[in-house]
Amino acid sequence: MIPNHLRHRAEMPVYLFGILVNLLAVVIIFGISIGSWDLGVDIKQYQSFLVTLFLLPFTILILLHWNYAKIRGNAIQITDKQFPDVYTMYRKLALEIGFQENKIPKLYLIQGGGTLNAYATKCNLRKSYAVVYADIFEIVRFHEDYTTLKFILAHELGHIALGHVNIRRKVFTYFANLFRPYAQTFTRAQELSADRVAANFVPEGIDQSLFILSAGKNLYPEVNKEAYLEQIQNEQNGLFLRAVNLMSDHPIMSKRMLALDDIKNYGLKKHGKLF
Ligand SMILES: [Zn+2]
Repeated sequence: MIPNHLRHRAEMPVYLFGILVNLLAVVIIFGISIGSWDLGVDIKQYQSFLVTLFLLPFTILILLHWNYAKIRGNAIQITDKQFPDVYTMYRKLALEIGFQENKIPKLYLIQGGGTLNAYATKCNLRKSYAVVYADIFEIVRFHEDYTTLKFILAHELGHIALGHVNIRRKVFTYFANLFRPYAQTFTRAQELSADRVAANFVPEGIDQSLFILSAGKNLYPEVNKEAYLEQIQNEQNGLFLRAVNLMSDHPIMSKRMLALDDIKNYGLKKHGKLF
């Protein structure tokens, strides 16, 4: 659906690496199981592990249904009758990104106790949805800032369009994801890809939108981007900065902002730093 050049260049290699680690882990586990059996060792000690492995896709599916039921039961769906101004903007954006009219993911609004967040996930095997927390949604009302909300929604639609929410991604990288630096690197690569989708479809949001995550929903319009870029000039390569970034599921803000600034200045051929 989405041209591949919008993906961060590291995303698919990191995914492939995770699949290979997964395959290797499965082969080793089965090898140990069969070897133990040949040696007369009681295979029962591996049984629960093998059962867990077999049930993993079903467990993930049940969790998805469970979480979607919580959203359906508690959130407000944004439609042409519910916050129609936002829905019109969202629908147009989804069509631009490449979703067919009948496959536009549902969008929900939920109160998050002050948390500034939005996310995209699956309803079931086929359909996906996006959720935006009230505090982010409110910026449209208090600052009349559609751009920031649009940028955030484009990021979430990017996750869906690029297949980041697909169940197979979780299943195929299950064992690799048990190693936290890998799991965080994989999600960071996907975040950089989703940022590229947002930057491509909402370029007017590159300069200011992400500052909401650092400065909050009231102060972010006042952040001076040039001063911030000066601040982070030397905040990219320190050992501890890299370690914090490595262990984060989202790239640290300085790397994220530099990646977006590079796209603004040099185009999508520039890819932000994953490490
Ligand atoms: Zn994201």
